[in-house]
Amino acid sequence: MSSLQSTESRDERISRLRAEGRLVDRFGRVATDLRISLTDKCNLRCTYCMPAEGLPWLPKADLLTDAELVRLARIAVETLGVEEIRFTGGEPLLRPGLPQILQEITALTPRPQTALTTNALGLSKTARALKDAGLDRVNISLDTLDSQRFHDLTRRDRFADTIAGIEAAAEVGLTPVKINSVLMRGVNDDEAPELLRWCLERGYELRFIEQMPLDGGHVWDRQQMITAEEILHSLQEHFELTPDPAHRGAAPAETWLVNGGPIRVGVIGSVTRPFCGDCDRTRLTADGQVRNCLFAVEESDLRAPLRAGASDEEIAQRWRTAMFGKRAGHGIDDPSFLQPSRPMSAIGG
Ligand code: SAM
Ligand code: SF4
Repeated sequence: MSSLQSTESRDERISRLRAEGRLVDRFGRVATDLRISLTDKCNLRCTYCMPAEGLPWLPKADLLTDAELVRLARIAVETLGVEEIRFTGGEPLLRPGLPQILQEITALTPRPQTALTTNALGLSKTARALKDAGLDRVNISLDTLDSQRFHDLTRRDRFADTIAGIEAAAEVGLTPVKINSVLMRGVNDDEAPELLRWCLERGYELRFIEQMPLDGGHVWDRQQMITAEEILHSLQEHFELTPDPAHRGAAPAETWLVNGGPIRVGVIGSVTRPFCGDCDRTRLTADGQVRNCLFAVEESDLRAPLRAGASDEEIAQRWRTAMFGKRAGHGIDDPSFLQPSRPMSAIGG
């Protein structure tokens, strides 16, 4: 950082970043991490995410085509300073064009880092092709090591497929393989140490995520939520955890070295330990809406201008405006908190 920059005030910094065309907000946060939802559909029905009957899916005509999606990603990378793109959903592996999308996005300059958040169903067959197409890393959701519990929790009998997908990801080098787990009281909250042991033995990095009020069935209950504190307590009964010297930065997970390292465990305390002040994310839904926060109630439509022939710069400007209005925090603990009308599966977790 130059001496000129180091003495600038927050307002001067924000003005400079705006002049540079970056995705800055009025609190000075800069979005460099883009999460793209590739579909709102899913082949599991995790109880904390979707009701058993599924949700009213987005109409096909509303979904961005692969070409539209790649164009928006290009604008984000080339014009707005996005450095990392994560594909999510719904279940992103259900999108047939994913390898081609990856190829086109990793051909951009500068090449963004690419990642996928997935339930890993079918990944055992596609991991190699995705790696070859430019995928760098994966986060795979696995909440239990018990196949019956997996069935109860996801309402599908697919435990073996998820495990095969995890193994394939590691085998082809989609590393570090990260495992995401959500614990629920009376369902799988006794499994934290077991999940960590399993990950340690295989060299996977485990991250627990506090259950958030984003489920399509509106079943979230603060009293029932397993807190970051409880998770840490249960792990500390079996492992020595020391705070990770690597700074947390914009990463949502607070991390600890397990038994002296090098493997870490992370806890994402979105509800009880919010990290909004360091957030560097911007989100694009499968139907082309920018969301400046997972919990935002407003969205900004990029699909309509895109289809009406807007220029790259016009679209970039809409995106900047959408991000500039980002709120300071999600306010889950605020009595006036409203759950967004879109569930997590349609926003992209
Ligand atoms: N289907 C993919 C998967 O499950 O990894 C990607 C989409 S899913 C919405 C992304 C992540 O959000 C998963 O790790 C999932 O466990 C998590 N998730 C879904 N609903 C959640 C909730 N209500 N609270 C916390 N995490 C949730
Ligand atoms: Fe599907 Fe992922 Fe939601 Fe589970 S968490 S229902 S795998 S979108």
